Amino acid sequence: MAEKNYNQLAEKLKLNRKNGWQGLGAGERDDVFALAKHYMDFLNKAKTEREAVAEIVRWCQDNGFLKLEDAKKARPKAGERFYFVWKERSLILGIWGKQPLSAGFRLVGSHLDAPRLDLKPEPLYEQEGLGLCKTHYYGGIKKYQWTAVPLALHGVVYTAQGDRVSIMIGEDAGDPVFTITDLLPHLAKDQMKKKATEAVPGEALNIVVGSIPVQDEEVKEPVKLALLEQLYEQYGIVEEDFISAELELVPAMPARDLGLDRSLIAAYGQDDRICAYATLKALAGIREPEYLALGLFADKEEIGSVGITGMQSNMLEYLLEQLIVWSGETVGMHQLLGASQAISADVNAALDPTYPEVMDKHNAARLGCGVVLTKYTGAGGKYNANDAGAEYVAQIRQLYNKHGVLWQTGELGKVDQGGGGTIAQFLANKGIETIDSGPPILSMHAPLEIASKIDFYYTVKAYNVFLSGDK
Ligand code: MN
Ligand code: MN
Repeated sequence: MAEKNYNQLAEKLKLNRKNGWQGLGAGERDDVFALAKHYMDFLNKAKTEREAVAEIVRWCQDNGFLKLEDAKKARPKAGERFYFVWKERSLILGIWGKQPLSAGFRLVGSHLDAPRLDLKPEPLYEQEGLGLCKTHYYGGIKKYQWTAVPLALHGVVYTAQGDRVSIMIGEDAGDPVFTITDLLPHLAKDQMKKKATEAVPGEALNIVVGSIPVQDEEVKEPVKLALLEQLYEQYGIVEEDFISAELELVPAMPARDLGLDRSLIAAYGQDDRICAYATLKALAGIREPEYLALGLFADKEEIGSVGITGMQSNMLEYLLEQLIVWSGETVGMHQLLGASQAISADVNAALDPTYPEVMDKHNAARLGCGVVLTKYTGAGGKYNANDAGAEYVAQIRQLYNKHGVLWQTGELGKVDQGGGGTIAQFLANKGIETIDSGPPILSMHAPLEIASKIDFYYTVKAYNVFLSGDK
């Protein structure tokens, strides 16, 4: 009797997580690095949701996508491309498919907003000879991470006359930057005894903006007045204009290669612009998809997908109504949504070797092991999770396997350790079959987040085969 070959048996039966760099051809590695370079350029140009929208619109114009109003003039044909901007902070791109619209669409939905510090409506004040601005943090941040790092100011201001003023200070090497002060260790005895959530309170996130007073000792708040004078001279804005502004402070650092082997990317805002850019690259590689292929880029995910530009709004239905008319078909909105499938394109947490205790290592994603297929997110007893059906997970898993997409599973940390959500549940609420899939990252929501170039590569491939409508 022949002896059983247990190596073969293990190969056949056991699930093995594979490292993407191993077995990668030399030419393929060049592709991985080249793709990452494009992504890093995008990160540097798109540090806020508005800038990301503007950059994606530019990309659309270079890649044959027409503005919806211009595209709608003739009956749609397979391969025809359009884009639809919603309120300057979110947008949807589409490529018409070979199948009728009633067969449903394939959608990859990411988000363009990232944790940051917003200026308050009345931000500017003076204290002890320093000009400062009050901020209100946006999204889930560990506040202590945002002190004593260089910050850049990005955004728009609308004047009383309705003029739009764009501001970007701190990105060019010659620009000044801003920063939040922190206590010196010598005098931080009391601060260091506090819980990390309280060590830097929200009201301490004040940025330093100047220190030269006007040349008149009689004037009250002379530094503040000098700063207002400078703002008026440079941008034509007055103090009241801050109320109708969206000014965001983001880390003033460009995306950089990380590591001796340059395998990783260190940059701000990779959650979730890594998925947004992967969606663009995926769409770029598609000529005539089987079904209508949609790339959706939402805003406000980090604060619960709320508001007019968040995934809980009707922006998708607003577009679909127009597409139904454009197609000339008679298909109901709910029928269309129900026939459709989506990937909620968002990052997952990678297992951090320095903090393995927060993860169940059997169900945690690793950097370098490919795009993550996440059945559910949520917290506690799966609260606020999408929890994709087994049938749909099976379909996507088969698709990835068939097309050589390196993938892994992952949960967002240990049960009862915390948790979080994505736009998946809101897509699913509309009746669209939905699953989460995106790359794992380290230091999520920190001023500097870490992703692997190989995971980005396979994320592009994953979204591409999905949007192509391949089986
Ligand atoms: Mn995200
Ligand atoms: Mn996030």
